[in-house]
Amino acid sequence: MKILSVNAGSSSLKFRLFEMPAEEVLISGVFERIGIGESFYTIKLNKDKIKKEAILNNHEDAFKILVKELIENKVISSTDEIKAIGHRTVQGGEKYKQSVRIDESVINDMIKYSPLAPLHNPAAITGIKAAKNIFNSAEQVAVFDTSFHATMDKINYIYPVPYEWYTKYGVRKYGMHGTSHRFISKRINEILGKDNTKVITCHIGNGASISAILNGKCIDTSMGLTPNAGVMMGSRCGDIDCSIIPYIMKEANMTSEEIDNILNKKSGLLGVSGVSSDSRDIEKGIEEGNERCILAQKMFVRKIINYIAMYYVELKGADAIVFTAGIGENSISTRKQIMEGLDVLGIKLDENANNCRGEEKLISTKDSKIACYVIPTDEELMIARDTYELV
Ligand code: ADP
Repeated sequence: MKILSVNAGSSSLKFRLFEMPAEEVLISGVFERIGIGESFYTIKLNKDKIKKEAILNNHEDAFKILVKELIENKVISSTDEIKAIGHRTVQGGEKYKQSVRIDESVINDMIKYSPLAPLHNPAAITGIKAAKNIFNSAEQVAVFDTSFHATMDKINYIYPVPYEWYTKYGVRKYGMHGTSHRFISKRINEILGKDNTKVITCHIGNGASISAILNGKCIDTSMGLTPNAGVMMGSRCGDIDCSIIPYIMKEANMTSEEIDNILNKKSGLLGVSGVSSDSRDIEKGIEEGNERCILAQKMFVRKIINYIAMYYVELKGADAIVFTAGIGENSISTRKQIMEGLDVLGIKLDENANNCRGEEKLISTKDSKIACYVIPTDEELMIARDTYELV
């Protein structure tokens, strides 16, 4: 069965077509700059990467081109062959504890939850509607980023603010990156060969979140009502003293929207270093002796260590710590610094093994008290698996 995994952003559309249940990737790619001019797309097929310019006024244009490419490249002979489409959807509120088939009521709920994910939910809805128009016989499935975190206990998801903010406005911790944490949780349990595990998953990319997972179920996670909570990130501040906001509003004469924008897009590694949100640039700055890059990296590592330590206590121990996403999979020095900062827990880094990028590997020594792994995440595959199961 051919299943298409889709991740629609406001101006982008990532896709991967799978043959299921074999989990074979037939074609993948991304459409970029949709609706903002100078649009283009890249496609990966049989190890070849093709980049083409195209007029992409909207997501439907992107799907039309995708169909053309699929047929021209003989991946399919008609759109009917694609039996289902799984969509990455971010915010499912408290209602969606699992992935679901999409009908009108699911879309209405996504609209209802849009204020909680103003960038992501409207983009996903656009992608769903466009996909429905082009692939009208395919079943559509929503895979929510928040659903894996639905198993958290109230003690971890209620904020210490007036309780009515939760009941009236839905203010609580929802968490994000759930599809990635779920993929990693499943894989590490396979590696460990058991289900009764205590695992700390570190999804560290541009956005970063850490989760505490007990027996395959999330009990706590670092992102909150929005993605701007928990650890410091590429351009997001993560946890800060919330009184900074009214203070800066007054002192710098800024609106809450301006500050929110700065806290999401100009803070984190970028804000502290003044150089970049990209960890490769920070690593280069450190090599050149840039003091602010050195400070930014030390802070970044410290915040991650703090969360791991917190979750170690919450889980009452840990069988494994897993690093994933752009930085987790590729930054040898960041992993080394985090693990060395955790030596008090009996964690021992295997320097040779850690000298790896983007591959599944045990990076702690045999006598390390906690096994530390790099596991590349695969949200698209998780979406395809859920979609396959549902249809
Ligand atoms: P997101 O999906 O949140 O946009 P990614 O998971 O793609 O982010 O991660 C992007 C981050 O991964 C960037 O900070 C980038 O610098 C980092 N990264 C990618 N490759 C490397 C590398 N070889 N060394 C260090 N960092 C890397």
